[in-house]
Amino acid sequence: MVISIHRPTKAIIDLKAIKENIEKEVARLPEATDLFAVVKANGYGHGAVETATVALEGGATGFCVATVDEGIELREGGFSEPILLLGIVPVTDIPLLSHYDLSFPVSTNEWLQEAAAFLQSQPITNPLKVHLKVDTGMGRIGFISTDELLEAAQWLQQQPMFVWEGIFTHFATADQADDTYWQQQNQRFQAALDCLPELPRYVHAGNSATALWHAEAVGNMVRYGIAMYGLNPSGTALPSAYPLKPALSLVSELVQVKLLEKGAGIGYGETYITPQAEWIGTVPIGYADGWLRKMQGFSVLVAGEYCEIVGRVCMDQLMIRLPRPFATGTKVTLIGEDNGQSITMQQVAEQLDTIHYEVACTLSARVPREYKS
Ligand SMILES: *Cc1c(COP(=O)(O)O)cnc(C)c1O
Repeated sequence: MVISIHRPTKAIIDLKAIKENIEKEVARLPEATDLFAVVKANGYGHGAVETATVALEGGATGFCVATVDEGIELREGGFSEPILLLGIVPVTDIPLLSHYDLSFPVSTNEWLQEAAAFLQSQPITNPLKVHLKVDTGMGRIGFISTDELLEAAQWLQQQPMFVWEGIFTHFATADQADDTYWQQQNQRFQAALDCLPELPRYVHAGNSATALWHAEAVGNMVRYGIAMYGLNPSGTALPSAYPLKPALSLVSELVQVKLLEKGAGIGYGETYITPQAEWIGTVPIGYADGWLRKMQGFSVLVAGEYCEIVGRVCMDQLMIRLPRPFATGTKVTLIGEDNGQSITMQQVAEQLDTIHYEVACTLSARVPREYKS
């Protein structure tokens, strides 16, 4: 999708906020614990290369991404720090993992056997850096049997073209007040580590929520994602251990303002009919930008006043009810602060019955990201 720069709609990313969020976490971590900035999915919609750059300034020492392509994007952006992929990679991508020096998770011995066979016919130059993944209760990827895990660890240590660089797990409930299941997962991870005769360079268990609420159990590296963007991983369930500053605001402008008579239909399906004469403003953002149809009935800020989105959200535009006439070109804030009032991504998520992670990632590629530091 082409980025629509010739339109007043844009996401403004406060890089200083990201840097400060990371600095606060780094300051809390024990000396020998690394922070890898999780910049998958285009930095949760904030821009991968830009947020990775500022993450290093804040004290990050490596990165996590989801896919090979996201790893390549960082390497081509000039980053030489460790990059760990978080998803399973097909064996046929081994040449890329080697060439771009991307660390990656392995969760079965079959994968290692297939990789060994692949390397017979396609030799590589740089060794492959493996993080063994342990499924302690997320049910997603990872070894379940400790026997198989031990077998993989022993096998890796005999292979010249493999480096056993890490071992890790992922918690399913680190953002919840009830830590019963978290404790079970943590015990399983500790038990898995105890089975191994030695440990690799990185032992890691923490996403943002674990870092914030179970700091004692992160190992020697944290995979710090949502909190670096200033969002509380739990939504509103748990207070953050330190203040997080949201980095993203979403703004646009009024492109038309008109006085409609009582009884005028607004938008597709005529779902809103003016109950009296009303000032209606049009804003150039719609569901193709990630501002979904369920946002009908929610509000945006104009000059510090909440204005309701009336009628259905269109693909590229929406209409709002204004308390009085405003000039075209007046700023509209969809996420962020305006004149002392604010709309948070968490509030948008609640309107959409989802989590702010999804709101950030749904903001489409059409919306330009503008960086301020
Ligand atoms: C996405 C992801 C993270 C980061 O999680 P946050 O909640 O955003 O901090 C960490 N670890 C894994 C395995 C992930 O997939």
